[in-house]
Amino acid sequence: MFIIEKQGTEENLVTSLYQSTRDDQLHVSAKQAIVTGFAADQGLFVLPDLGANPFPLEQLAEMDYQMIAQAVLERLLPDFSQAEIKAAIAAAYDHSFSDSQITPLQAVGDFQVLELFHGPTAAFKDVGLQLLPQLMQRAVATNEQVMVLAATSGDTGTAALNGFRNQAQMGVSVFYPDGGVSPVQQRQMLTTTGKNTRVAAIEGNFDDAQRNVKQIFNDAKVHEQLTAGTRLSSANSINIGRLIPQVVYYFSAYQQLLEQGKIELGDQINFTVPTGNFGDVLAGFYAKQLGLPIKKLVIACNQNNVLADFWQTGTYDRNRPFYQTLAPSMDIQISSNLERLLYYESDGDTQLVRQLMNDLDRQGKYQVPATLLEKLRHDFASGFTTDAEIEATILQVFADDHYLMDPHTATGYHVMRQYQQADPDTPMVLLSTASPYKFVDAVADAVLGKHAADAQATTQQLADYTNVPVPPALQKLWDLTPVQAPRLQPAEMAEWVVRETNEVFKHD
Ligand SMILES: *Cc1c(COP(=O)(O)O)cnc(C)c1O
Repeated sequence: MFIIEKQGTEENLVTSLYQSTRDDQLHVSAKQAIVTGFAADQGLFVLPDLGANPFPLEQLAEMDYQMIAQAVLERLLPDFSQAEIKAAIAAAYDHSFSDSQITPLQAVGDFQVLELFHGPTAAFKDVGLQLLPQLMQRAVATNEQVMVLAATSGDTGTAALNGFRNQAQMGVSVFYPDGGVSPVQQRQMLTTTGKNTRVAAIEGNFDDAQRNVKQIFNDAKVHEQLTAGTRLSSANSINIGRLIPQVVYYFSAYQQLLEQGKIELGDQINFTVPTGNFGDVLAGFYAKQLGLPIKKLVIACNQNNVLADFWQTGTYDRNRPFYQTLAPSMDIQISSNLERLLYYESDGDTQLVRQLMNDLDRQGKYQVPATLLEKLRHDFASGFTTDAEIEATILQVFADDHYLMDPHTATGYHVMRQYQQADPDTPMVLLSTASPYKFVDAVADAVLGKHAADAQATTQQLADYTNVPVPPALQKLWDLTPVQAPRLQPAEMAEWVVRETNEVFKHD
């Protein structure tokens, strides 16, 4: 299917290259995919042939982060112009990251840590959520406004507020479970300024908030009541505009290994990725499809180990107890982005994907064919880490290597060591998804054996003891005055969204 788009004075013939994971007849452009978030049939948008135009690997050694981002985005977002991509990247990755490498690679003992937490909110969500608003702004029509809705267990909400604040034609509304986020995360959300940002605490857990956000997207009455030209969209990693920016740092890690003389061009490497909704590790699979020499992607789960069991048995079964762990950003039972992997590894079998997702909806589980399981195991390995192992890991790595890890990264470390027993020689990169100061109570418990009553005091004690610097964004948090968030029943969310959205766009 072809769509003729008029852009300025040029007439572009733009192929609608994206399609739904559940229907190969449902086509959209990359811009439409970013503005709408997910497909009308509840599937996720995918670019069918990721390997059609490989990354120019022979030029990688000479590229900085922004150049790598340009090359990746040109390949995966074909209807954006080079100039649009360049401007979006320049605006996203500027002084808001405290390290000029954006995602610096640190040698620790005999492995490498790729630090993804140097953005404005000190967790890896910033890498996607600084760029998503820039892409969305260049995709939305001039006479439209977009309100982005996000249910959050902490990190996504903070990073979305920061990325979208004061962006023209856009607003952001974040819903967090009342009492269900860390004191640092709550303070981050309630101190984010911006005329177009809204935050509400929901009486209920994360799943209640998430379910209601999904209902609002599909609620015709909500759409009728919004000011004309207003759309709702999503900032979760089901949006390709957030997923694709994460592909970039896999190439950046390889570039830094080349630069440090640790590998030669063409050598295979492994990555270990702390995993929840499967966005981060899926971006690694995209990098591999674009030609990055990745041997294995190692999926690390916490006690909520539905993915580790799936890789073991071929059955994805969410009928199981839910644990609140020390790595809360990975406390998840439905890893949404796995749907995209099933699409690719089944060679685009949309009928199969649709059937599996229906099984998940109706029975809470599905089983994949043996041939598909074999392919999944070829590209990925998996394992999980208990809370006791997370604590022991944080303490041990600090004692041995003087490196301070957050609980999510520690989950990855433990699984990485398990995996390395089978493959000790391939260079390994561990992705670090948050600053240890973002989950300061758990880290202090592990290293100091206790934490103080308030997070500011704990932060100070941990910094004094370890000499590991506190990120600038978290340091200044305690000087800012938080706003009061309204407390809503889940049933009140729709009405609130209508009122606040119309209020945000009143003057546009
Ligand atoms: C979101 C998050 C994860 C999980 O990433 P997914 O893309 O959802 O798999 C891991 N660690 C931290 C700190 C996070 O915020």
